[in-house]
Amino acid sequence: MSPVALPSHSVAVLYGPKDLRVEQRSVWPPSQNQAQVAVVSTGLCGSDLHYYMHGRNGDFAVRAPLVLGHEAAGIVTAVGPGVKHLVPGQRVAIEAGIYCRTCDFCTKGRYNLCKSMRFCSSAAVFPHADGTLQGRMNHPSFVLHPLPDNCSFEQAALAEPLSVLIHASRRANLSSGQSVLVYGVGAIGLLACAVANSLGASRVVAIDINQTRLDFARVNGFASQTFCLPPADRAKTTDEQLRRAKENSQAALAEFGSSAGFDVVFECTGAEPVIQMSVHTAIAGGKVMLIGMGTRNVVLPLSTAALREVDIQGSFRYANTYPAALALLASGKLKNIEKLITHRFPLQETKRGFDLLSRGQDEDGNMVLKVMIESS
Ligand SMILES: [Zn+2]
Ligand SMILES: [Zn+2]
Repeated sequence: MSPVALPSHSVAVLYGPKDLRVEQRSVWPPSQNQAQVAVVSTGLCGSDLHYYMHGRNGDFAVRAPLVLGHEAAGIVTAVGPGVKHLVPGQRVAIEAGIYCRTCDFCTKGRYNLCKSMRFCSSAAVFPHADGTLQGRMNHPSFVLHPLPDNCSFEQAALAEPLSVLIHASRRANLSSGQSVLVYGVGAIGLLACAVANSLGASRVVAIDINQTRLDFARVNGFASQTFCLPPADRAKTTDEQLRRAKENSQAALAEFGSSAGFDVVFECTGAEPVIQMSVHTAIAGGKVMLIGMGTRNVVLPLSTAALREVDIQGSFRYANTYPAALALLASGKLKNIEKLITHRFPLQETKRGFDLLSRGQDEDGNMVLKVMIESS
């Protein structure tokens, strides 16, 4: 019997810092409880960009060629044995984190903390699990979520970063009538604003160092009011930095006409001076949600938090959010959400997409928020 040639598909593979190559690989049939998905849209995210630029993301270095991408949606092309809830032709969002489903965290609904998590596109585990920047992928069917009819592939790709904010909002018990302050209005911060608005926040305001981004947030209804932090040299001492954080906080709260502070503060920058401000700008009894990552050890005005019962909470990825995220995207409640997608490239030009994302501006001076890669 002559061997049957397998069909092939294009894959964008990261070999090292800025060394991204598009290759052809064989398409293998899905195994037990897996479905094969033709990936349509993948959004590029900050962690993908870290891997692309530096070959690592924090502690996790790329040790073997890695396929990036974890914000994705596509069409089921085949199902393996045992798959009941999906059929070929079905449109799905791909949840990138494959969790064990048996440990304490998983059974208690906190699978984002699962120690056996294999997150596609992350170098945290070895062998690495490949991400979605490819034409076809076989993926466990329990982490494939059918799309509502009026949810596009690009919207469905946004379900991943949106999930991060849905999870954080749940942890913050964010509810209607609360006031919300968001630090950093990149894609994640804008989604924080959008989720807060959809939950009926009494007001949503934003702070950034970039006036163009703040204008975008205000003009498109993500934030009702904004404050641009003045540019400053790095503080020479910790005391000076803490003093500045307090002064900047007072200036921002005065601008917002809200000297008491905000019920929920989403910190989406990961920058130390901003994390310090978060504590000062939360209302007594309020919450600071840490979404941004970037500074490992941070000096905090801890008594300012403790004596005012400001809860500082971490939030890591998400659990059980995809159905809610897809329903929210399909509901039309997230006004102007499609404007987050500023640039699109075919898979063959993934490298251009990353270079653009790293610059933050395109050739015409337009800002770059979310870059979508179209696989097929
Ligand atoms: Zn991400
Ligand atoms: Zn688990």
